[in-house]
Amino acid sequence: MTEQNGSAVNTLARKLVKDLVPYASARSSMSGGAVWLNANENALAPAYQLDGTFNRYPSCQPKAVINAYAAYAGVKSEQVLVSRGADEGIELLIRSFCEPNTDSITICPPTYGMYAISAQSHQTAVNKVLLLNSERLDLDGIFATNPKLVFICSPNNPTGDVIPHEQIIAVLEHFKNSALVVVDEAYIEFVPEASVAPLLNRYPHLVVLRTLSKAFGLAGLRCGFTLANPDVINALRKMIAPYPIAEPVAQIAAQALSAAGIAQMKQSVATINTLRSDFIKLASTLPGVLKVWPSNANYVLLQVADAADCVNALIDADILIRNQSSQLGLTQVVRVSIGSPDEMQRLTTAMQQYFLTNQQIKREHA
Ligand code: PMP
Repeated sequence: MTEQNGSAVNTLARKLVKDLVPYASARSSMSGGAVWLNANENALAPAYQLDGTFNRYPSCQPKAVINAYAAYAGVKSEQVLVSRGADEGIELLIRSFCEPNTDSITICPPTYGMYAISAQSHQTAVNKVLLLNSERLDLDGIFATNPKLVFICSPNNPTGDVIPHEQIIAVLEHFKNSALVVVDEAYIEFVPEASVAPLLNRYPHLVVLRTLSKAFGLAGLRCGFTLANPDVINALRKMIAPYPIAEPVAQIAAQALSAAGIAQMKQSVATINTLRSDFIKLASTLPGVLKVWPSNANYVLLQVADAADCVNALIDADILIRNQSSQLGLTQVVRVSIGSPDEMQRLTTAMQQYFLTNQQIKREHA
């Protein structure tokens, strides 16, 4: 295409698209490195087999996957939608329930970035009600908004906090006849007792988001779930693409949700939770780590003197972690995903070296 043609195409794009700043995913914003601790993936990856041929279109909502997830989550099959990651669940909820240029969503930063970006790309306003002390919902602030959807992330990315059940119930009670309350449980397997899925039968306007990307170690699969009242699921089914789940994805998801797959997931959660406790203990002793958030997920948020410098120092050691300092309500913070035992050993060595050297420089300047 000539340059002239290229610019003509650019003028054809919608104003919204021209103005949109896309989500900077961990994978798109950083490359290289040998140890990837920047995307909250699971390094303890299981291997799967594919069989069959792929000449036929797949089922829109493959029964084996839906039934297995319903059994795993303790809900009925008609309360489950499978999608291309929880990200597609977020997008479908906004597209199905928010009238463009009219409705709004409420989010509680610092939190996952895709709620706001999906809303923006659907011309939906975003009410931002900051978490209190970056851990509890500001209920009065949330009640002062008039949204169609309220997004609550628990455990919250990037802080790792679980939002107390009483607070989620208070939000559910307040928005009984006016909004859906979406609880994003992408990391719930690391703290399963905190799930609000048992409340689904009590609150028809509760929606729970889940994924195979984290504890199940299948971020590359792109498979997530929305759990909700059948009326909500039916609305989303009207909006989803005809064949959203590729056949290989359905086959692997069904294996991951078998008894053996779930047992393997639980084992990897136990390993990661132990590695996380060890890392939190270490980080708390490092001079220069100003705050360590008590995580309930497979990542830990740390406040440091200079987040960009810390990220760069680890890049020099071939390790990628994520700078989260641009998040509303946070300053100079890095998020470290929990990797394999070997990766955590490399991280420990690199962090000790960085923070002890920093201390040395400070001492020289003292
Ligand atoms: N919610 C949260 C809180 C997340 O951190 C992520 C992934 N980073 C997602 C949803 C999206 O998950 P998926 O890979 O299933 O699209």
